[in-house]
Amino acid sequence: MRRRVSRRVLLSWLPPAAFAACGGRSSAPAATPTPLPTLPAGTTPVVSATAIPTSTATPSPSPPPTATATAAVDALLPVGFPIDPRTRLGMVTGAVGARTISWDAGPAAEEYSRADQPSGDPERANRCGWNARLHVEYEGQPAVDWYVRGVPVTATMDGTATLLINTVANPFDVYGVPREAYIGNPDRSRAPISPFPGPGGGQGVFVRIENAAYRTDSAHLELAPTLAHIPKDAWVAGFAADAGALSRQFAALRDFRTATAVARWSVKRGDVIGVTGDTGYSEAPHLHYAIRPVGQENALCPTREVGFSRSGWLFGAPG
Ligand SMILES: [Zn+2]
Repeated sequence: MRRRVSRRVLLSWLPPAAFAACGGRSSAPAATPTPLPTLPAGTTPVVSATAIPTSTATPSPSPPPTATATAAVDALLPVGFPIDPRTRLGMVTGAVGARTISWDAGPAAEEYSRADQPSGDPERANRCGWNARLHVEYEGQPAVDWYVRGVPVTATMDGTATLLINTVANPFDVYGVPREAYIGNPDRSRAPISPFPGPGGGQGVFVRIENAAYRTDSAHLELAPTLAHIPKDAWVAGFAADAGALSRQFAALRDFRTATAVARWSVKRGDVIGVTGDTGYSEAPHLHYAIRPVGQENALCPTREVGFSRSGWLFGAPG
């Protein structure tokens, strides 16, 4: 989980190949460029929209799709799981007030996400992580969590990956706030959204992948093992693949809207981009995974499980 991010994307134009929210392919190019949104005071945009066209010229009609064009477009779709779908998940056990996670005792990630995460039963839907509904309720955005420890994370689409760091710390540990109320289906009376006396650290160490159509976030990664998957030439000036130095640089918790881009590189779907961990606002080791159509930061898809239905991204092409 993470705090709601109110930052809005800095985009003014969508290419003709852009998709409408929730998988519908737009039949017409965006005719009118929208003005750049204004960022709230004090907001730090975590990443600039590099490689995304910002021209305000009127797009020309797109030609009929060819096989090559279709293949190129499909690579832009975030399809499938960012972890091995056979990964056995941690499962919430114990009564309210004494909940804990039994590691490797849950179903496989795919089984949980098919059968349990979309469930209308909150306990079942959140027994191995947080489902999209809970994320929308707490954060105003669709995302899913899986309780896993130290597993590789893969890109689900082609694009530009950015390693961003808010903090390597965890606010529950820093402030000594018990995690129990946040495990599984949180108790609203015991699990306030902001239980910390200071910054909550947001997504901790995370990798954002962006392309012309979508953006994915994989958050709360473990720093040191993640560094092994970053190309040597990816580092932003002033940073390097030095876990000790980065841990010192990002030891402090910062506002959840703040993150620093430390590396940027190109990825293809299936490339390993990091390793799961427990950094930032994380009640237990897990992977937080979110998908947003470009230019529709606040879209909530009308699917059974927001953005992640049986016909959605985790299980095939958006439908
Ligand atoms: Zn989450």
